[in-house]
Amino acid sequence: MRHAVERMVEGYDAADPERASTLALREEWMNGGHATQARIVGGYGGLIEFLAAECRRLGVVIHFGCVVSAIEEAGGAVAVRSASGDVQSCGRVILTAPLPLLREIALPAAVRAKAAAADDIGFGSVIKILLRFARPWWRERREELADMIFLLSDETIPVWWTRYPDQHAVLTGWFGGPRTAALSHLDPQGLVDAGLDSLAAIFNRPREDLARDLLASAAANWAHDRFARGAYSWATPRSRAAQTILARADGPVLFSGEALYRGRDMGTVEAALASGLETAGMILRG
Ligand SMILES: Cc1cc2nc3c(=O)[nH]c(=O)nc-3n(C[C@H](O)[C@H](O)[C@H](O)COP(=O)(O)OP(=O)(O)OC[C@H]3O[C@@H](n4cnc5c(N)ncnc54)[C@H](O)[C@@H]3O)c2cc1C
Repeated sequence: MRHAVERMVEGYDAADPERASTLALREEWMNGGHATQARIVGGYGGLIEFLAAECRRLGVVIHFGCVVSAIEEAGGAVAVRSASGDVQSCGRVILTAPLPLLREIALPAAVRAKAAAADDIGFGSVIKILLRFARPWWRERREELADMIFLLSDETIPVWWTRYPDQHAVLTGWFGGPRTAALSHLDPQGLVDAGLDSLAAIFNRPREDLARDLLASAAANWAHDRFARGAYSWATPRSRAAQTILARADGPVLFSGEALYRGRDMGTVEAALASGLETAGMILRG
């Protein structure tokens, strides 16, 4: 039971069991949080495209490739400075960068003091591996695996899922939590190799057979992503207090994003949307 709980905390929540809030996990797990899983057909891109189109329709200007390096405050006005030297002046800023990146953006002293609360919110990492095979060999060899969705193991890349009920011969490997640091030296090809090793061990098949059937692959260690530095947030016992500090509208810089969501499922797209709506509402109200 202890082992299963620790694996779930690490693997699903990408959290450190030593620091994670037991009460937050209980709330998440006891309320059917994991029971209602759904995925958007065609991927989350559809959601982003919809939001971007709505914004543009309302006159929003989106600057791509603009890495914010500093937010400065002078005489009641705010300036957002980008790494390329571009400066935007405005009345208010909503900062939605992932928590680890808050340290990389220069902030006015009062905002920096407020941002320090983010240290009480956990932020985990995830390694994700996608493998497309010529044939769904796991189904062909073992009939009882025809409707397999999830597979949990003790291998280096422990969790795998299929696209069932879609019949694509794709396996997705997943490894989350603090122990992913042990694989931080691997590049994407090294991660794909580790994934094939794990599958070969789980299914007791020669690794070369699996490698021969592999048509395409992709792998990401999200800790290596320059604009994420990890995957998503998780709750420590002090996270609720930290979120309350960060969510205050007490200056020209507001914080928003998945880590600020005070509901049950932090670390999700829904959490990011809910937090964004709350912040927008706060600004509209005054
Ligand atoms: C592998 C993986 C799988 C996941 N699976 C799921 C799932 O199945 N379901 C689910 O609901 N959620 C999932 N999530 C979590 C989900 O992606 C996040 O919770 C969500 O994207 C958070 O949205 P956000 O807007 O708060 O932050 P983000 O989506 O991280 O957006 C922050 C943006 O800030 C940008 N940025 C960073 N630094 C700067 C800077 N200095 N200047 C300008 N821009 C900057 C980044 O490029 C990024 O576009 C997953 C996450 C990962 C990593």
